[in-house]
Amino acid sequence: MEKPRNIQLRLLSYGVIAYMMLAFAWWSVLLFIKNRDAYQAKRDNMRLVMIAREEIPPTDEAFYHSPAFRALKKQYDRQEYMILGEAGVFVLSLAIGVWLINRGYHKEVMAAQQQRNFLLSITHELKSPIASIRLVLETFQRRELPKDKAEHLTKNALLETERLNKLVNDLLLSAKLESAYQLHQEPVNLAQLVEDIFEQMEAKYPRATFTFNKQTAVEDTMGDVAGLASVIINLMENAAKYSGEDADIEARISQHGHTIRLEIADQGIGIAEEEKNRIFEKFYRIGNEDTRKTKGTGLGLYIVNQIVKAHRGKIEVLDNQPKGTVFRIDIPVAKEVKQK
Ligand code: ADP
Repeated sequence: MEKPRNIQLRLLSYGVIAYMMLAFAWWSVLLFIKNRDAYQAKRDNMRLVMIAREEIPPTDEAFYHSPAFRALKKQYDRQEYMILGEAGVFVLSLAIGVWLINRGYHKEVMAAQQQRNFLLSITHELKSPIASIRLVLETFQRRELPKDKAEHLTKNALLETERLNKLVNDLLLSAKLESAYQLHQEPVNLAQLVEDIFEQMEAKYPRATFTFNKQTAVEDTMGDVAGLASVIINLMENAAKYSGEDADIEARISQHGHTIRLEIADQGIGIAEEEKNRIFEKFYRIGNEDTRKTKGTGLGLYIVNQIVKAHRGKIEVLDNQPKGTVFRIDIPVAKEVKQK
């Protein structure tokens, strides 16, 4: 939300701009009228002088066809066009200026809002695992626990530690992507990588159904294994996160010519058309209640997009049928990956 003070300032600047526009319009009209008056006075004067000097007979026709009147009329027409043209250019440049300022302002507000969202979610995301781990440790310190209870608590603490670890890794990776991200190139088989990650996911989300569909053979490509793994993990985690308990997730991989296509499809809550471009922005999270209930920082898809781009690939978001989302990545098979 915009602060009331900002709104006041905005209204004030709109007021000043509107005043300037009106004032300028008024001055243009005035100039126009004065110019016309001057022209008419000059014309009448010229006519009287010409008749007095007997240069022309005293008829309208003779005067309007005289070269002196024509020159005067031409000059007047030119001045009229000039006034109109200048007023048009001024109004147009002012309008463009206002539009540019407004756009910049809007971007700033959005960036500030995302930064604030990020701070809120990051604070929560950092604090809550630390608080749970601390609680577990304090419980251990205070009393002897039966074996099964101790195991349960340890498992929870480990999960929280893993969450914390992922968050810190995401933060570091996104900072790295902005400064000097160097692809660590080595041959990687994307189909194999997906299969390996599937095992981790199945262990982590026992209630979800994971289907791997290898549609064609897939060549090895040069790429950054850690980066590509992070792409697949982020997409699968999102698919699970935004599908509820019994997620149904399918990964499809195929190669067409020199392009490897990887699709991660879910049957989850789906993504509205107008959000599809925005979700790749840093810290962007869709603002509806369904997604706000889930944990996250809005960094995942930003990282995914940057890594895919660094491999000269592209990513698209499509609707799944009957519901849910498909993330489609096309990566060119590379003998050697070019640096960004
Ligand atoms: P995070 O998950 O940490 O919020 P991401 O960058 O991974 O951040 O995703 C950005 C937003 O895109 C999410 O907040 C969510 O609203 C939306 N999103 C991502 N993946 C999916 C998906 N598979 N289904 C529905 N919404 C998704």
